[in-house]
Amino acid sequence: MSVADRLAPFGTTVFSRITRLAIEHDAVNLGQGFPDFDGPPDVLRAASDALIAGPNQYVRSHGLPALNQAIAEHASPALAGAFPQGIDPDAHVTVTAGCTEAIAASLLGLLNPGDEVILFEPTYDSYLASVALAGAKANIVTLRAHEGGFTFDADELRSAVTERTRAIVVNSPHNPTGKVFSPSELDDIAHVCIEHDLVAISDEVYEHLVYDGAPFPRLANVPGMGARTISCSSIGKTFSLTGWKIGWAIAPPELSASVRAAHQFTTFCAPGALQAGSAAALKSPPSFYESLARDFQRKRDTLCEALDDIGFRCVVPAAGYFVMADHRALWDGDDVSLVTHLIENAGVAAIPPSAFYASSDEGSRFVRFAFCKRDETLRTAIERLRAWRDARRRTKTKEPGGNSRRA
Ligand code: GLN
Repeated sequence: MSVADRLAPFGTTVFSRITRLAIEHDAVNLGQGFPDFDGPPDVLRAASDALIAGPNQYVRSHGLPALNQAIAEHASPALAGAFPQGIDPDAHVTVTAGCTEAIAASLLGLLNPGDEVILFEPTYDSYLASVALAGAKANIVTLRAHEGGFTFDADELRSAVTERTRAIVVNSPHNPTGKVFSPSELDDIAHVCIEHDLVAISDEVYEHLVYDGAPFPRLANVPGMGARTISCSSIGKTFSLTGWKIGWAIAPPELSASVRAAHQFTTFCAPGALQAGSAAALKSPPSFYESLARDFQRKRDTLCEALDDIGFRCVVPAAGYFVMADHRALWDGDDVSLVTHLIENAGVAAIPPSAFYASSDEGSRFVRFAFCKRDETLRTAIERLRAWRDARRRTKTKEPGGNSRRA
């Protein structure tokens, strides 16, 4: 009957809305970013064994010890700059119900009403809602699209800081753009954090989906940032198990205490059997991660080439699940009208990126397509989009003056 004022402006998430429409119209769902295949069978088996053998009761709030251990071993080499002595599974690792909870718990655990948080837009939708839940205010810095990528203006970042600013959320690799923040961009962010004593919350869920052999620099490793960064990630994207909702936050003890202060009163703990399965997953050999990135890179290439051929202009993502495709050569309207039209007329669902922008309208010229799907699913989506494009071309040539681009 009455949604709280803090949440009322957010309505139902764009992902739920688009997936519902996709089902209604029997559209291929390249909207919500989840794989339409499941993770490795031996990982599924480890979780199902644990479901029979237990634990089936609450586990330790900050994580099943075996999973904390596996996360510490998995992340220690990657975060060696921040934790030169290695990550301590008990002092530094908090297991959460997905990375979304890790970020929410970080914000809820750190912020007081009236505090401010810097977010980059396009922004993953849960960040703004979590900032609002904490009674805090978001200051937005826009990642602007230019030839070949998205970047922010360091001056714009600096001027987003006020004396109420406590934290910044950085998502690299980034959803929806597929951007990997460069070392110099991370330096600019670190500089602001150190100068204004901010905590950085770094969402790294696409850490193993970086393409073309590119390096993935981490914010926590920048000198001066180890003590003030909460590095968050999850099992979902790396092991194609997004529904497991097992994530974590890695941080020095004082920041871990903030995360845990909120986590214990929101979910208390994540499901034990899935934590056991996740511990098994993190024992995967390096070859697993290499072939994962290779497979997804191939999917990226297949989709981007086809979209460009159809008439979109892709900003080829360096990482992640998604491509931002500029639709202006195909469509006169905005992203929402095109996405609705595509679901209803082409049988393909995508996400209108304006949902990820709070201050600029940069998103309206793009459509976000997910490529984390079976080859067969991508093939069907591409065939449908091609057929849609061809039908529109035929209609257009029949129309004298032909300025109606809408089929
Ligand atoms: N991360 C997914 C995406 O960007 C959405 C997850 C969700 O539906 N909350 O598509």
